[in-house]
Amino acid sequence: MITLLEVLQKSTHFLSERGVPDAKLSAEWIMADSLGLKRLDLYLQFERPLTEQELGGIRSGIKRRANREPLQYILGSADFYTVTLKTDERALIPRPETEYLIELLHTRYLNKAPSRILDLGTGSGAIAIALLSVFPEAEAVAVDQSASALELTAENAQATGVSDRIRCLQSDWFEGVEGTFELILANPPYLTREEMDTAEPEVVKYEPSKALFGGDDGLDDLNRIVDDGLTYLVEGGMLVLETGIHHHRGLMERANALGYVSMQSVKDLEKRDRFLIGLK
Ligand code: GLN
Repeated sequence: MITLLEVLQKSTHFLSERGVPDAKLSAEWIMADSLGLKRLDLYLQFERPLTEQELGGIRSGIKRRANREPLQYILGSADFYTVTLKTDERALIPRPETEYLIELLHTRYLNKAPSRILDLGTGSGAIAIALLSVFPEAEAVAVDQSASALELTAENAQATGVSDRIRCLQSDWFEGVEGTFELILANPPYLTREEMDTAEPEVVKYEPSKALFGGDDGLDDLNRIVDDGLTYLVEGGMLVLETGIHHHRGLMERANALGYVSMQSVKDLEKRDRFLIGLK
């Protein structure tokens, strides 16, 4: 008979030998999820003997993590600001920096609730859905080029109760978009060739590269969105971008030349240039 504590120790050891970062935490999350427990409740059940069936479920999750599959794909969900979202290989896992962007917008930069929002490259729907959850009067158009990503968007909209206020639209950036918006946001692919080559296996092996790679210098999609943004913003509207950390100077010059009233550079939690907020 093997106890929960012994399985946790063995799993942690196995994962750390395979180079998995935060091996113990990964093992705890996978075990808790597989046993239907809260993570910290594992600590109250260390002496519990595990059945063969329970062990089977845990082993399959641990094996996936040992192959460097991201934890959120194995667990199938991730918390993002006010909502819990389903996560799988159809879209990028929502990142902490993007969550911080939503917090900044909600608490600091949006001094009035937006009514019409456009989320370009919505993926899991994280940005659009979190904003709809904090602005109950708002409506959003959520755009993605990938049909399978948009299925995930729709599932998440349904599960979080915002599906009557979101329209999922398959489009190459603005191509199929109609009308104007008070708030346009995008977390487009912006990794450079070099960043793609050095990214963690979790990212390279499992996440859709189409959602990550922004051309050799990471600017292909950012440039297009800045160029066309003005056409789709109302007067006084706001364009919000997540970017790579070396992109700001070029994009700000570009925005200036195009006639944006302003383009402000905002740092992420690690003090890197990460977000741009433009006004029309
Ligand atoms: N921040 C993401 C990463 O480092 C990249 C997201 C993107 O390209 N939009 O993996």
